[in-house]
Amino acid sequence: MTADTDCLFCKIVTGEIPGDVVHRTERTVAFRDINPQAPLHVLVVPREHLPNAAALAEADPVATAELVTAAKAVAAAEGYDDYRLVFNTGADAGQTVFHAHLHVLAGRGQTWPPG
Ligand code: AMP
Ligand code: ZN
Repeated sequence: MTADTDCLFCKIVTGEIPGDVVHRTERTVAFRDINPQAPLHVLVVPREHLPNAAALAEADPVATAELVTAAKAVAAAEGYDDYRLVFNTGADAGQTVFHAHLHVLAGRGQTWPPG
């Protein structure tokens, strides 16, 4: 599976829907979350459509690692050494978009455990 014509994040990856893109790599695209939960809140997504992080890791371990290194680059570019990475998986865990995405949050104290 490479794309899903009904998927919001596939459309941001291709540019069909505008996104505030801050970083691109061969296998990933990073854009600002439309409803930010911290001063820095970026989503790093694989260009390839997979429904969640585990499915992505099974299909493409290289792209999965690239999400994490892209997240570090996004945070560093905005001056953050410390940041939180989150993969919500499944509706009960808060996943609303079923295209794998890594949340990158920084710029405020992060509570633990998360809500
Ligand atoms: P999740 O709830 O983990 O599936 O995360 C989905 C995220 O996508 C939420 O934080 C939304 O605010 C964000 N989101 C939804 N639509 C857009 C959009 N058009 N551009 C950027 N972020 C979006
Ligand atoms: Zn998709």
